[in-house]
Amino acid sequence: MSLLVVGSVAFDSVETPFGKHDRLLGGSATYFSIAASYFTDVKLVAVVGKDFPKKHIALFKRYSVDTKGLQITDGKTFYWKGSYEYDMGSAKTIATHLNVLACFDPVIPAEYRNSKNVFLANIDPEHQEKVLRQVRAPRLSACDTMNFYITSKKRVLVRLLKKIDIFFLNDSEARQFSNETNLLKAAKCILSLGPRMVIIKKGEHGSLFFSRNSQFSVPGFPLEIIKDPTGAGDSFAGGVMGYLSRFKKIDERRLRKAIVYGSIMASYNVENFSVNRLSKLNKRLIDKRYNEYKKLTHF
Ligand code: AMP
Repeated sequence: MSLLVVGSVAFDSVETPFGKHDRLLGGSATYFSIAASYFTDVKLVAVVGKDFPKKHIALFKRYSVDTKGLQITDGKTFYWKGSYEYDMGSAKTIATHLNVLACFDPVIPAEYRNSKNVFLANIDPEHQEKVLRQVRAPRLSACDTMNFYITSKKRVLVRLLKKIDIFFLNDSEARQFSNETNLLKAAKCILSLGPRMVIIKKGEHGSLFFSRNSQFSVPGFPLEIIKDPTGAGDSFAGGVMGYLSRFKKIDERRLRKAIVYGSIMASYNVENFSVNRLSKLNKRLIDKRYNEYKKLTHF
């Protein structure tokens, strides 16, 4: 079953203790779609400016990501600049230039409207809502967000959550969203607002999954090389949603496996800047890390 994603496609300038790079290919939908493409067919809905290079569009196509929904409009592509300190825990945003994203009208191409799986990657929650309204009968819908929108658009987010199956957010966002310092209480509070499941990402410390009657925890994959954490959350969501999109029926076992695949995609992504590592994977490397995860967590 195919997977529709709406989110940002961006130029990122990123500085970490391991390097500094300008105008890299980035954006929430970029990381998500490349990660998910290893599991299923992805349809991308996003907007870029006329300055967006053809070679980046060619890259999406190489991963069979359907770019019919990628609007190219007058103006500049969304630009984000961020930096990370030594612990690489969270990005410090230095600049956000919405550019063409500011007047994005996410129109879903007719042939995408029957998509059974939908991921609303980090983008203005009003745009996320608008996309969800255009999809006829999604079997699985999920969304992500960030501190910026929790501060500025919380009411819209709360409304959106009522229609969502899985809410992905990181630990500091979960605390901010729920006004709870404890993550179990934060998850309970979020579940009470409507989503069937919530996944709290904890960076290098892994992730926590909650539904009304189960919990699951996956550690972060221990890595010696972490060059750039940008896009880890989106790659994680790409692995989770990509894996789940392969099945008609989603049960607890598949959900747990999906979270492991999400962790694998995130762990590869951080090994290099932009999508430089994520775009060089294959089934063998994904399976290898899956087996390493099994050994790591078995007792
Ligand atoms: P992550 O590290 O997974 O949280 O996401 C990183 C990506 O989010 C970067 O590639 C940015 O281009 C993108 N991003 C940053 N701020 C925003 C925003 N306000 N709206 C949409 N995407 C954003």
